[in-house]
Amino acid sequence: MKKRVKDDFGKTCSFCNSRENIGNYLIHGKNAYICVNCVKLLYESIFKAREKQPAFGAGHIELPLPAEIKSQLDEYVIGQDYAKKVISVAVYNHYKRIVSAMRESEVEIEKSNIILIGPTGSGKTLIAKTLANILHVPFAISDATTLTEAGYVGEDVENVITRLLQACDYNIGEAEKGIVYIDEIDKISRLSENRSITRDVSGEGVQQALLRLVEGTIANIPPYGGRKHPEQQFLPVNTSNVLFICGGTFDGIEGIIEKHMGKNTLGFMKNKQSSGFSHEIYPDASNSLGARAFVEQDDLVKYGMIPEFVGRFPIIAPLQDLDKETMKKILLEPKNAVLKQYKELAKIENVELSFTDDAIEEVCDMAVKKKIGARGLRSIIEQTMLDIMFDIPNLKKNKNLKRCLITKDVLTKKTAPVYSFTRKASSQ
Ligand code: ADP
Repeated sequence: MKKRVKDDFGKTCSFCNSRENIGNYLIHGKNAYICVNCVKLLYESIFKAREKQPAFGAGHIELPLPAEIKSQLDEYVIGQDYAKKVISVAVYNHYKRIVSAMRESEVEIEKSNIILIGPTGSGKTLIAKTLANILHVPFAISDATTLTEAGYVGEDVENVITRLLQACDYNIGEAEKGIVYIDEIDKISRLSENRSITRDVSGEGVQQALLRLVEGTIANIPPYGGRKHPEQQFLPVNTSNVLFICGGTFDGIEGIIEKHMGKNTLGFMKNKQSSGFSHEIYPDASNSLGARAFVEQDDLVKYGMIPEFVGRFPIIAPLQDLDKETMKKILLEPKNAVLKQYKELAKIENVELSFTDDAIEEVCDMAVKKKIGARGLRSIIEQTMLDIMFDIPNLKKNKNLKRCLITKDVLTKKTAPVYSFTRKASSQ
């Protein structure tokens, strides 16, 4: 492709049918031709359309309001109402801050990086990912435990921005408005025992290394990441408007929070008249969040995060443990709920897949016992459905399978589901 050949004369563009002429020559591929005018048109339709994609701060896209962000989050993230509310406001302010900076306002609005604190599998990553989808900004995930300060074996912190660049085909302008999620941030606390085996680097060193990036700097980013490509040209990326969201379970932080409260949290909740804490802003929050509802930046410092790092994360959003009722909703309600996905897969084969109520209850009970949050739901369903999804296409083909009902026994006794076949096939 790409080469223009002299004997193309008389050939026409396979797209617009026009003949080659001066100023509009043909490029030929294996079995087709394209004229320069069509190339231009295609280029414009692909790249100009991309440029028109929501680019916050550029002024040509309306920012969704906090309530709109929250209601879109609601479609994918079940429960976690307090965290979703905090985040919706923080994110709205973050992008307003970008607009305000462009207007050269005199008041400089502080960057609102966010720390999410909550049990594993409770939706921290999901919230960050869904936010990026709602806002149409690039998104990248990194794991804090793999990061090291420069000079040690492992990933340089700049790699978190490399991933962001890769998520938007190296469009620096887009990456500069993206969202970076750094998981397991609690594992790089000074006090954490979770040191990497491959490196002898303190979590504190990694926190220090991240400081510059999260507060905003022009960072030189290796486009292919790592140190494996020493010849690569570094790309300058301004991280001032990149939103950093860190997540961690912060196991045991409840004890620290209760200590700062001076007394048992429940007693505090009963007695305190007006504290401005989360349970008052959002009345249900304290019930399911427990002590986490009262987390403050100081608690994170006591946990071993360095004060400078915590200082760059003014927003702390606690997430709740998922109880059985919430698990049930997660199984059934989100747009991409795992059960809906399996039903859809069966539907494509013209098979109606359903679960009895007690089967659903059983899945949720099993998931709660696993203590890995909603992640347990998917693994239980996947294990249960493996053989069934293996058999359905055969049963469809050979016996004209119509319906497949998953009962509680399928989960507890590993029995086969209840299959129904159409009369024509079953009489064979
Ligand atoms: P973590 O809190 O450990 O970051 P994730 O967000 O990665 O957990 O959750 C793992 C999976 O569990 C998600 O991909 C999603 O399918 C499901 N999940 C977890 N929490 C929720 C929730 N609150 N609402 C809907 N799905 C959830």
